[in-house]
Amino acid sequence: IPITLEEAFNGCEKEIKITRSELCPTCKGSKSKPGSNPETCKVCGGTGQIKEVSNTFLGQMVNVRPCRECGGTGKIITDPCDECHGRGSVRKTKTIKIEIPEGVDEGNHLRVSGEGNNGDKEGLEGDLIVTVHVKKHKQFTREGDHLYLEKQISFPQAALGDVLSIPTIEGKEVEFKVTPGTQSETVYKLRGQGMNSVRHSSRGNLYVKVVVVVPKKLSSKQKNLLKEFAEISGDEIQHVEKGLFDRVKDAMK
Ligand SMILES: [Zn+2]
Ligand SMILES: [Zn+2]
Repeated sequence: IPITLEEAFNGCEKEIKITRSELCPTCKGSKSKPGSNPETCKVCGGTGQIKEVSNTFLGQMVNVRPCRECGGTGKIITDPCDECHGRGSVRKTKTIKIEIPEGVDEGNHLRVSGEGNNGDKEGLEGDLIVTVHVKKHKQFTREGDHLYLEKQISFPQAALGDVLSIPTIEGKEVEFKVTPGTQSETVYKLRGQGMNSVRHSSRGNLYVKVVVVVPKKLSSKQKNLLKEFAEISGDEIQHVEKGLFDRVKDAMK
């Protein structure tokens, strides 16, 4: 079942359609037309087994194998059920509701008891095993119970510090402080803002990586201020014109 990361966080209910074999409602798995009874197999005498005795130099060897005539059941269906043609089961398509618990992860298996194929007796239904596929999220990446997010900030934000608002997986916003003098690629840990867990009651963490972005275009005022900034900092900056190749690259962006 494909689900979104939000659905994996909150848990959800999904409906799926499956085709499975069910006990034939007409003969209830007996394979015979109602009212008729199967005959005892003449080949094995109803035991379902064939014994073969052979004489070897070690003495008598008894070999037991299932009877081919009756398929090991000891009975021959003489009047097969019309609905299942003597198979005892029929193929049916059914819609099944699946409860997906909060915190499920990619590839997790869920067992829905009794919703699988039926063998050939009442009460012998198998289980339905569902594999969860969590779709990729636009913002968050996930590792176990932890979530990861990238947030772009400007050089002044990194240098002066700032208070940022970050989206959470439950659709809320949390604030966190970027400390003055933060370097690009610094990772902040927001405890308990990650995924719910299927194993424990506490939530994972949200890790926010701040990336300092250099502006691609500057106004002349911005340029002058930056030049002044560089001068005060003691940086000697050579004047560079954008070449033709750079301008073509910019135009293609
Ligand atoms: Zn039947
Ligand atoms: Zn037989």
